[in-house]
Amino acid sequence: MFSVFLIKYAEIGVKGKNKYLFEDALVHQVKYALKRCEGEFKVTHTDGRIYVHALSDFDFEETVDNLKTVFGISGICPVVHVEDEGYEKLAKALTDYVDKVYEDKNITFKVHTRRARKNYPMTSMELSRELGSAVLDAFPQMQVDVHRPDVMLHVEIREKIYIYSMEIPGPGGMPVGSNGKAMLLLSGGIDSPVAGYMIAKRGVKIDAVYFHAPPYTSDRAKQKVVDLAREVSRYAGAVYLHTINFTDIQLHIYDQCPHEELTIIMRRYMMRIAEMLAIKNDCLGLITGESIGQVASQTVQSLAVTNEVCSLPVFRPLIGFDKMEIVSVAEKIGTYETSILPYEDCCTIFVAKHPVTKPNLNVIKRHELKLGEKMEELVQKAIDTDQVEVIRWK
Ligand code: ATP
Ligand code: MG
Repeated sequence: MFSVFLIKYAEIGVKGKNKYLFEDALVHQVKYALKRCEGEFKVTHTDGRIYVHALSDFDFEETVDNLKTVFGISGICPVVHVEDEGYEKLAKALTDYVDKVYEDKNITFKVHTRRARKNYPMTSMELSRELGSAVLDAFPQMQVDVHRPDVMLHVEIREKIYIYSMEIPGPGGMPVGSNGKAMLLLSGGIDSPVAGYMIAKRGVKIDAVYFHAPPYTSDRAKQKVVDLAREVSRYAGAVYLHTINFTDIQLHIYDQCPHEELTIIMRRYMMRIAEMLAIKNDCLGLITGESIGQVASQTVQSLAVTNEVCSLPVFRPLIGFDKMEIVSVAEKIGTYETSILPYEDCCTIFVAKHPVTKPNLNVIKRHELKLGEKMEELVQKAIDTDQVEVIRWK
């Protein structure tokens, strides 16, 4: 019965001149999500409203599920589309609608009419009143409540007439592509995919980098990261995933530096390389899944030491989250099951038994000096191993 969806958006409506940019990005992302659905669709954008029109048979659930992955959408309203064949036909269409959609008629309602086409022979007020009476005549159990109705029956007069009353919640946020691009440090864990999701939700396009350490890390560990990138791309759109071979850097740190500082020094090199890749790829910031106190390398002192190597802003959306809170987002967005697969991560191979929890920046810098010029070469070599793949959901 539904052949159109009205796409509601909240936050992007208040951005002044940027509004058009935001709306264009939203239309783009809606089209991208619809490509994954059975059926043919047209997306229109007029009078500050975005509609999805089904041009063929389509699967309602599948279409709604995919629209629910589009950041920027606050609500999805399934719309019934009727020809304008005079008031009588419209009143009939509206009562048919109510009959089908609301099995239980013990509800209050209000009719809200909007005329995008002003040559309609009745005003919006008259139409709302007349249609309200028609509904009451058809279903005497129903009652009008103009202040807090259970059901708001929207009637929009356009070239055709649109009727809708339901709103399926969207994910909120802002459309990806409306807020620049950032580089996500993506590991195989629970946190970093969630971090990527949360920053993408604010409209930021995501590139990702994964540091692997073959043969200490396996192809399966790499595949897990690819799978996670794909799950993130369901919301974030296509993700360019960079894979960097980090083995020689890790071995060199292992040879030269105190073992309790391995993780923190390694983290600093990851951040340095990620920043170089970010700048090369027009990313305006870095994203990590760090959260204060989660592990030794995420104490406030450790984070400060890690952060020191970066000049780009580092977005850490999980910084104040407890693990349980992160897990619940991971479950909601569908990355959790992949994240808990038991493949080794390059960081777990070289971890010390007693890593420093309060590193001192000067001490760390002094120990890094031992890495010498060879480290510069290794960093350059690592960057040369960069392999890029475009990861898409379906
Ligand atoms: P996650 O659960 O996301 O794997 P983690 O619990 O393993 O994180 P750390 O190892 O301290 O925590 O890593 C902190 C952050 O550093 C991660 O959230 C991620 O952004 C980044 N990171 C860690 N390891 C890698 C890696 N091998 N490749 C890319 N980024 C990484
Ligand atoms: Mg973590």
